[in-house]
Amino acid sequence: MSSGAGTVVCVTGATGYIASCLINFLLLRRYTVRATVRDPNNLKKVQHLLKLDGANERLQLYKADLLLEGSFDSVIHGCHGVFHTASPVPASNVQDPQAELIDPALKGTLNVLKSCAKSPSVKRVVLTSSMCAVLYNGRPHSPEVVVDETWFSDTEFCRELKYFYSISKTLAEDAAWKFAKENDIDMVSINPTMVEGPFLQSELNTSVYRILSLVNGAQTFPNASSGWVNVKDVAEAHIKAYEIPSASGRYCLVERVAHYAEIVKILRDLYPTIQLPDKCADDKPYMPIYQVSKEKAKSLGIEFTPLEVTLKETVECLKEKNFISF
Ligand code: NAP
Repeated sequence: MSSGAGTVVCVTGATGYIASCLINFLLLRRYTVRATVRDPNNLKKVQHLLKLDGANERLQLYKADLLLEGSFDSVIHGCHGVFHTASPVPASNVQDPQAELIDPALKGTLNVLKSCAKSPSVKRVVLTSSMCAVLYNGRPHSPEVVVDETWFSDTEFCRELKYFYSISKTLAEDAAWKFAKENDIDMVSINPTMVEGPFLQSELNTSVYRILSLVNGAQTFPNASSGWVNVKDVAEAHIKAYEIPSASGRYCLVERVAHYAEIVKILRDLYPTIQLPDKCADDKPYMPIYQVSKEKAKSLGIEFTPLEVTLKETVECLKEKNFISF
């Protein structure tokens, strides 16, 4: 694959947490970036992008919406690579999962891929999927289980659990693989777990908000176990998946799986004077942890940032941007 100076790539959902970090890294590597946003005039959402090193010379904003047929045609036309990150990530309870999550994820992904199929310049597509499209298929999660890229979430199982975001990501990734195969598109998917670490955008995204709520007076922590990964490693993996010709298939990105009790413990060790929740939200047994294979991620050259460093970077960024003060 082509890399660096002079290469034109498209990033969808540019205002987002992961996309902003990805665009920063692409500009630093001297790519020309066509970034899609829903509203290029919304300065609150785009000004951090316009301030990035190299943005004046090599960043162009384009207006595009996942739900508008053909919306991505002109921006993708002439690009060598496409990073499709745009997809709704719910902040809280969803009223209408079909309209709010599933349609934009699924129809939006196909919309973007249709534009890629129309443009012979596109040599590779990197799809931002999720561990949510990997983990939930009824197979047990326990400390000795090693999840890997062969796992695929089952939408019926997710529906029983009301995991609507997981349904949206699973349907989108599944449809993307089918469309890519039928249309001879070279596609790679990146499947990150819960992403933390420093953020560039001014509005908090859902995953960083989870850490903010813990350090900002929560009385309890959730009885949940999750994988965790640093946003810089996620952005780096997207670029490696595009640049390395032999990259293929899916890449799970998980530094470590940890229960929220462990997250609180790490935060307490890092910041002994702040108030952190010391009770779990329920008195059931803790949700079990599991393992996730790092073999494929390592084949891209990804060396994961330790969770302790990621959490410190997250809290320091929350302080720097005045979301918290201590
Ligand atoms: P984010 O900060 O909430 O960004 C989501 C982006 O999607 C925003 O730019 C948003 O644009 C765009 N978007 C939503 N609906 C759209 C629509 N109808 N048309 C066009 N754009 C639309 O989320 P993120 O955390 O960076 O996540 C980015 C990607 O990574 C998503 O695909 C998500 O599923 C995946 N992911 C995230 C995590 C995580 O922990 N953060 C973990 C695994 C996978 P607006 O600014 O216009 O709303």
